[in-house]
Amino acid sequence: MSNKKILILPGDGIGNEVMAEVFKIINWMEKTKSMSFDISERLVGGTAYDKEGDSISDETMQVALNSDAVLFGAVGGAKWDNVEREKRPEAALLRLRKDLDLFANLRPAVVLDALAEASSLKIDLVKGLDILIVRELTSGIYFGHPRGISKINETESKAIDTQVYTTSEIERVSRVAFDLAKLRNNKVSSAEKSNVMETGLFWRNIVTDLHNKEYSSVNLEHILADNCAMQLVRDPKQFDVILTDNLFGDLLSDTAAMLTGSLGMLPSASLGPVKDNGTRAAMYEPVHGSAPDIAGQSKANPLAMIMSFAMMLKYSFDMQEDSQLVERAVQSVLLKGLRTADIKDGANKVISTKEMGDAVVEELKILSGN
Ligand code: NAD
Repeated sequence: MSNKKILILPGDGIGNEVMAEVFKIINWMEKTKSMSFDISERLVGGTAYDKEGDSISDETMQVALNSDAVLFGAVGGAKWDNVEREKRPEAALLRLRKDLDLFANLRPAVVLDALAEASSLKIDLVKGLDILIVRELTSGIYFGHPRGISKINETESKAIDTQVYTTSEIERVSRVAFDLAKLRNNKVSSAEKSNVMETGLFWRNIVTDLHNKEYSSVNLEHILADNCAMQLVRDPKQFDVILTDNLFGDLLSDTAAMLTGSLGMLPSASLGPVKDNGTRAAMYEPVHGSAPDIAGQSKANPLAMIMSFAMMLKYSFDMQEDSQLVERAVQSVLLKGLRTADIKDGANKVISTKEMGDAVVEELKILSGN
């Protein structure tokens, strides 16, 4: 039995279409590289609600907990807009994040040469860009208490959100950032608002202590989150790994994402704690949603999904070479001018979702000689 237990959750809308293209790559790898993945495929999102009465069933959650990695497509659609909140398609994502304790969200912002012109910034600012945002995902202001809206008196009400972080919450996500920086350009920029927030100052102190104790070989800089946002659009290549909290990570990762041009190109990974067997809970998913406007038309760009799979090979299975092979195949396809409609600028030919998946497999064959 393979030790690469993967739960595949295609989901709704284009989730199914883009996941089908990942299956082509898995099949190619199993055939030519004589490796095997132990794959379970189950329903999630609106499709699961229709068939199983919930957007993620307890059985599926159990399979997720027993897997080495979860590969997630996308969920949601107008059909389920009126379903009760806790059974809505998006609730499945929240449950997966919570139950797997996926505290570190990794969002790479990589500008592939072939797509450098698609960025909203000048080409020389973004060409060759390769940064990684590590965002704390399970704590901070989105989860802190007290929260809510209450009445002060007859005419006034108030709303409260609370930002809370503990030492161990900051340390564990910082470790992920420092460890990843060591495999990259060895630099961490820790972004917070230590000038005006208690949690910001606390964050800075904990990161500094951890750096002194365990990671002094990594270059660490502290940067105020607002300056970080500005620097991301002024000179993004100064960054390697950006470490930040849940709220600022939400904003900074979307800013960084737009440097790369298209939603259809953005993968992500969310990592949890290391398990007894040495592996760590992990989920990989494209940043985009289920795109109901183009679902069922084979127009979706499957590359964000395919690159999420490449991240899985790298971070969950330590298959660096295979991960790079998939990334190089994607680069080659784009350099040949084959593009889905969302990235059609500079295309020699606009192709369908299925054709894009086939083209990536063809490139894999060429690059590997198999
Ligand atoms: P979306 O990401 O689905 O689509 C936004 C726009 O980008 C659309 O015009 C869409 O056609 C385009 N697009 C997205 N992915 C693409 C791809 N791979 N190739 C080509 N074009 C692509 O966001 P939305 O329209 O705001 O939301 C649609 C549904 O998806 C909603 O129900 C929302 O809740 C859900 N959603 C789910 C996730 C998730 O599953 N992680 C994330 C975001 C939104």
